[in-house]
Amino acid sequence: MKPVLVEPSIDTYNIDPDKIEAAITSKTKAIVVVHLYGKACDMDPIIALCKKYNLKLIEDCAQSHGATYKGKHTGTFGEFGAFSFYPTKNLGALGDAGAVVCNDIALDKIIRRLRNYGSDIKYYNEVVGYNSRLDELQAAFLSVKLKRLDEINAHKRKLASIYLNNLNADFVKPVVDKDYFDVYHIFNIRHEKRDDLKEYLLKNGIKTEIHYPVSPSKQKHCRESLIIIIFLSVKKTSATTLSLPISFFHTELDE
Ligand SMILES: *Cc1c(COP(=O)(O)O)cnc(C)c1O
Repeated sequence: MKPVLVEPSIDTYNIDPDKIEAAITSKTKAIVVVHLYGKACDMDPIIALCKKYNLKLIEDCAQSHGATYKGKHTGTFGEFGAFSFYPTKNLGALGDAGAVVCNDIALDKIIRRLRNYGSDIKYYNEVVGYNSRLDELQAAFLSVKLKRLDEINAHKRKLASIYLNNLNADFVKPVVDKDYFDVYHIFNIRHEKRDDLKEYLLKNGIKTEIHYPVSPSKQKHCRESLIIIIFLSVKKTSATTLSLPISFFHTELDE
């Protein structure tokens, strides 16, 4: 199996639906979308392509717990939605954890088997699987935190609105659109003098991050295993992107 990269949109950083069709061949099995930074991908044209070419749809929802597109939650569009509960995610465990959602009994069975050494019955292995069960303690923590996910997302959306209302035109801000309910896992801006800005903020006690310093096509493993295409939008984003602080623990300054 060989993944083929498709260029993201420079506006949302999500997969550009207009560029998917050119990457589809007779060997294509599925489209994998990543709802990056807490914004859903533009799903209508992607679903249309899946239907047209009879492809499966897999959603990476690691940054999009609770995000919606036209009122529908990410993770509910495709055959599978993969969620990460890594501690820094909008819904985070106290250690590593994750889950896959699906709405098909046969597919559910496959996923349950894969996470448990490829086994349905103890000591009998049907396929090569993984040790990927969700630890019970983490599940208990997550059951408590899940009830507060809407509160966590609302808080992040409030912080995002402060940035959106106060950052001037030197900053390329995240796109806001009525069809998208964004949960701002990351609040990403672009700035021409990104490195100077990052340093200036750090000197003033504000730590920022770069998501991501190395794009997939430049990762060593990908350079060896993928056909490399240099995407202009990625080049531009890599040089200017900066993530501003936006966690549940940040509060508004009282004035
Ligand atoms: C965090 C993250 C992952 C990985 O999640 P793990 O729980 O560490 O496996 C995958 N995709 C995206 C977009 C992520 O943000």
